[in-house]
Amino acid sequence: MHDKSVQKTSYNLDMNANQALLNRSLASVWHPCTQMKQHETYPLIPITKGEGVWLYDANGKRYLDAVSSWWVNLFGHDNPRIKDAIKAQLDQLEHVMLAGFTHEPVVELSEKLAKLTGLGHAFYGSDGASATEIALKMSFHFWRNSGQPNKIKFISLQNSYHGETLGALGVTDVSIFKDTYAPLLTQSAQMPSPDFRLAEAGEGAEAFALRCADALETYVAAYHKSLAAFIIEPLVQCAAGMGMYHPIYLKRAREICSKYQVHLIADEIAVGFGRTGTMFASYTDCDAACTASNCCKNIDCRPDFMCLSKGITGGYLPLSCVLTRDEIYQAFYDDKITKAFLHSHSYTGNPLACSAALATLCIFETDNVIQKNQETSDFIWQKMQAFNEISITNLRRPNSNQSGMIFAVDIVTKNPNFARDCYASALENNLLVRPIGNTVYLMPPYTIDREEVEHALKASIHATSRACK
Ligand SMILES: *Cc1c(COP(=O)(O)O)cnc(C)c1O
Repeated sequence: MHDKSVQKTSYNLDMNANQALLNRSLASVWHPCTQMKQHETYPLIPITKGEGVWLYDANGKRYLDAVSSWWVNLFGHDNPRIKDAIKAQLDQLEHVMLAGFTHEPVVELSEKLAKLTGLGHAFYGSDGASATEIALKMSFHFWRNSGQPNKIKFISLQNSYHGETLGALGVTDVSIFKDTYAPLLTQSAQMPSPDFRLAEAGEGAEAFALRCADALETYVAAYHKSLAAFIIEPLVQCAAGMGMYHPIYLKRAREICSKYQVHLIADEIAVGFGRTGTMFASYTDCDAACTASNCCKNIDCRPDFMCLSKGITGGYLPLSCVLTRDEIYQAFYDDKITKAFLHSHSYTGNPLACSAALATLCIFETDNVIQKNQETSDFIWQKMQAFNEISITNLRRPNSNQSGMIFAVDIVTKNPNFARDCYASALENNLLVRPIGNTVYLMPPYTIDREEVEHALKASIHATSRACK
């Protein structure tokens, strides 16, 4: 660690260094998901340090990271266990190509993920979107290898988000990301979303989910001969403003896909690793201690493909993974080279990223995280009720077993710049929240303590009421 005097000096320089860094950033970095011109009025924030749920800017001001740095951070910044695991791996092997070579971290990680999901083979990429691409290509290629070359189309849910590379954007349904690029994209059809906010007045969550599932079945029954896969975000459509739905929809989707021979791709990039109250949202009846293969004895609720990323390394390094069933893997296993899955990324299975993922899984095991999260979730939920004092609707958390670590409220306001104003106001009060439209959500690191929860709620409610004006 730096000693205090050094740190103080660097803070004193900050006012200049700070502005200089912002200027250099604006001159050289093209920031993601941003109209860069808006930084004329909303300055970038230079972050110099992270610790636990806190991010520290160059002036030493801190912000509670209530969005887990875009949903990736599970166990806080500067987590000693993940950091040590990466350091140890760094002394051993930083990287080796995974074609023709293998290494302990990637093997161990694949074994562990197989055990947790009941999906026997793991293929790696570096980002969520690349996992979506891999799953789509694999599904298509499976049908081709299996003598069904007409199964080439994909379906997804209305308001779905699966990433922003061209293939992933083709199955995404968020117009602000998609419309500009429409001429470049492969067409896909969108099924009615079971997001409970879209239900008719008076309709229950389960009844609505079943009605949407019936619509899915009607479509799949008519078009299954040309359908390769249905890709879905299990339980929560996060980018759609944390649209949550009843788990019965997943069960029905699995049945329908099996009945008509259409793959089910579970995009657990955001919801995986405990966000919905179970290790994976696809297995709503499982807890962390039970593996998918032994807790789904009666119904086989496994998807055909599962995409993982974001929290997989605890937010430390880019890594994504597509898990699939051994039967699917077998359809590529042949003397013919073209039957193989000839897809690669340079950093496939990077050992440092895998070591971070192994440390993350180890924390889940040794700290009983899923069980502990239930308490944290209940405490946050209780504190969330204070939102009821301002104009809101749909206070919610995942619908599986009323736990999970995603919390959302839809704000009723006439302010067209609500999201931006709320974000800015929260920052003033030491909180990082990024509303999606009029939805304010918290998706904090699991390590958040009670005092920090109280701060997050107080600051988010304050920011919300100010931004409503
Ligand atoms: C974030 C996200 C992706 C894309 O992941 P990137 O790493 O941003 O490419 C895909 N699907 C879902 C559900 C996501 O939340």
